Amino acid sequence: MDICSLYKEELREIFSKRGEPSFRADQLFDWLHSKRVLEYSDMTNMPASIRNWLGDEYPIPSAQCIKRQISSDGTEKYLFSFADGNCVETVAMQYEHGMSVCVSTQVGCRMGCRFCASTQNGLVRSLTAGEMLAEVYEASRLTEKTADSVVLMGIGEPLDNFDQVIRFYDLITDERGYAMKNRSVTLSTCGLVPEIYELAKLKKQLTLSISLHAAFSEKRSSIMPVNLRYPMDDLMEACRSYVKTTGRRVSFEYTVIHGFNDGDEDAEKLASLVRGFQTHVNVIPVNEAGRGDFSATRKQAEIFAGKLTSLGVNATVRRTLGNDISAACGQLRRDTVETK
Ligand code: SAH
Repeated sequence: MDICSLYKEELREIFSKRGEPSFRADQLFDWLHSKRVLEYSDMTNMPASIRNWLGDEYPIPSAQCIKRQISSDGTEKYLFSFADGNCVETVAMQYEHGMSVCVSTQVGCRMGCRFCASTQNGLVRSLTAGEMLAEVYEASRLTEKTADSVVLMGIGEPLDNFDQVIRFYDLITDERGYAMKNRSVTLSTCGLVPEIYELAKLKKQLTLSISLHAAFSEKRSSIMPVNLRYPMDDLMEACRSYVKTTGRRVSFEYTVIHGFNDGDEDAEKLASLVRGFQTHVNVIPVNEAGRGDFSATRKQAEIFAGKLTSLGVNATVRRTLGNDISAACGQLRRDTVETK
């Protein structure tokens, strides 16, 4: 595992095996996660002898920006490249309450959602916690801002990279590091049921969001193959259990595909599913640049959200940011991979 993916105790172990005092581990953690330098040579309070073996054995993961798009609304989208040449997308969004960074968790994805660009060419590999942190650290450097929140809604399925995503969460919320607030990390999943139970057991304070996108199980299966493995009833049961175990709320995402999942019966069924959840439904018009011939206008999404509201569901259409820079995740990487 790379050096930025390691917990402080694991760093201490490395130093103790070398016969070095444990405070060196704290210094190293501070350089990596608080000061966020990218070279051991910049760690001025670290003896050269230590910097040498660290440099030889533990390269510091970095996200190198190979494309940067800046939208008129201030949204920035990056194509970041890692040491092995694999690329992911990261988006930095400016809200009134601060900056939010949308982080990719895998290179590609194996979930196969039919409308999504990220999964088109399958999964290449999962990212390490250090690489996910590097996305946030580099976005902070480029924008010269500290992120107030992180959404794991970039390329990949976070729960398909469970251990590294948990490390990412623990490390980014470490008070001695980036010190993000516990509740400011949102994990979005297409619904890997066993991992939702695993996550609940850990009782983290992160915010869980479920990509539902259909209220009828068969309909959901037709656009999200994951529903064949973990049918919707099991998913909703896992959500109820998650709320009970963690005391946290779960929110839902619903991508409107006009003429497919935005009828009255869809709204009614969805309302019945989320009733009792004290929840919020994020309604999103499907981005046509995704995949397949799915479409919806913002207006159509608003009409659907209106139906939900009239049924007593707390629903809003998410502000669309970065429209002029193809900010829907997966597009930039796909376009780049395909034009190679
Ligand atoms: N794999 C996770 C997180 C990544 S996708 C998940 O499924 O939740 C982040 C969100 O974007 C998901 O809700 C996903 O369904 C949605 N999405 C993917 N392609 C889209 C498209 N073309 N238009 C609108 N939303 C899309």
